[in-house]
Amino acid sequence: PSDQPTDESVRIFPSLPPIHYGHPEIHLRAGIMRASRLAEAQEPNAEKAFFVADLSQVYRQHMRWKASLPEIQPFYGAPPDLRKQIQVILIAPLFFTAVKCNPDPYILRLLASLGAGFDCASNGEISQVLGVGGIDPARIIFANPCKAVSFIRSAGKAGVDTMTFDNADELYKIARAHSSAKLVVRILTDDSKSLCAFGIKFGAPLHTVPGLLGKARELGLNVVGVSFHVGSGCYDPSVYTDAIARARAVFDMGREVGYTFNLLDVGGGFEDALFEQAAAVITKAIDQYFPDRSALKIIAEPGRFYVSKAFKLAANIIARRAPLVEVSATTPEVSDEPSVMYYINDGVYGAFNCILFDHQVIHPYVLSMDGSFHVPASVPQKLSSVWGPTCDSIDCVSPKTTLPSALQVGDWLGFDNMGAYTVCAASQFNGFELSNVIYTMGGAGGLEVQKALAGLAASGHGL
Ligand code: PLP
Repeated sequence: PSDQPTDESVRIFPSLPPIHYGHPEIHLRAGIMRASRLAEAQEPNAEKAFFVADLSQVYRQHMRWKASLPEIQPFYGAPPDLRKQIQVILIAPLFFTAVKCNPDPYILRLLASLGAGFDCASNGEISQVLGVGGIDPARIIFANPCKAVSFIRSAGKAGVDTMTFDNADELYKIARAHSSAKLVVRILTDDSKSLCAFGIKFGAPLHTVPGLLGKARELGLNVVGVSFHVGSGCYDPSVYTDAIARARAVFDMGREVGYTFNLLDVGGGFEDALFEQAAAVITKAIDQYFPDRSALKIIAEPGRFYVSKAFKLAANIIARRAPLVEVSATTPEVSDEPSVMYYINDGVYGAFNCILFDHQVIHPYVLSMDGSFHVPASVPQKLSSVWGPTCDSIDCVSPKTTLPSALQVGDWLGFDNMGAYTVCAASQFNGFELSNVIYTMGGAGGLEVQKALAGLAASGHGL
């Protein structure tokens, strides 16, 4: 990529920021150069941290999804006016992306125009998705097995019928607040091979399922299928086989009490590096356990897979100091502890909440040093620690990392893979603002992104 920033951009939705062209690296550099111009002009908050979101990366993940899970049924759920304008809808697979992972307005619009459904956790997320416009509520699954009664009622009023449950109280609440809902029983599966396990909180153990289905039948409720989640950030995709076998067993339990299920929801958990492997495991298990799929709709709820790599963060070094080391007679002369502490302007109360909530380990790299984007490989390195800007000592981004010894206040650090479970849970603790987002259509797939979003805008939706 060239060092030159680009001002070329397209404003597709008047209410949202423009989308630029060009590689994300260009926009990281352009953002830094803009910050130094603002600093020279003594503008307040000139050195503010910022994300660069590459929408074409989301599109490329979508292409990977389609290539590796061709068995999953095509999705035709978009309203006809959108279908006419956006060809890709007709070939997009049926998948429900998890809004919780990153509810960025452009991400929602792009996924909507690619024909995605949406997995929502609350009525706030449902409103956000329906607020895009043109999204049939049938494209939403309310995939939180423990909902407030008022949320169930408002989902019903909004036309969102598909929702999960894993306990008897939920069935009583649904019978009261939205008795015509299409219910999906969320079952417990092995989540021990994932970064974030959910089984301690959600999922009906198989031995409880016949009782739950019997209760649903007694209450006159319509149970249509089975869902599971192997845990987020699954590093051993073989667990999908057992999960799908369990789902098969629950389909059979449903038949015993008089239900004919037609929906299998394989949840989320997809890791970028293991995606093709996971897809192969799922395809094989579905073939084995659901050989007759003539009346079966299979969906998934990917979150992280779609957005993780799409966002990069640039943060400014706002302070630097030596660590507080108590020197004593026993202090070793050569320490393996960091010898310098850098303070940057986003931290665990902001975008790096993923360290606490999503168990991420952060790897900073140098974006710019002493005004230059070129850092020679030969530059001497030092063990360092990187901290967020708040007054809390838990606000540590990286307790031990190697960075050039010449780094100073004003230099910039970069962070990759910042799209999943970051901005969505960021707070403004201590009065620190959320980092802005600069959008680009990046590289391959950019044109398709523009076409898809323009189609949504032309249909009068997504404004
Ligand atoms: N579905 C549900 C019900 C979830 O709770 C989550 C994540 O919390 C997801 C899907 C998304 O999971 P992932 O990001 O691992 O794909």
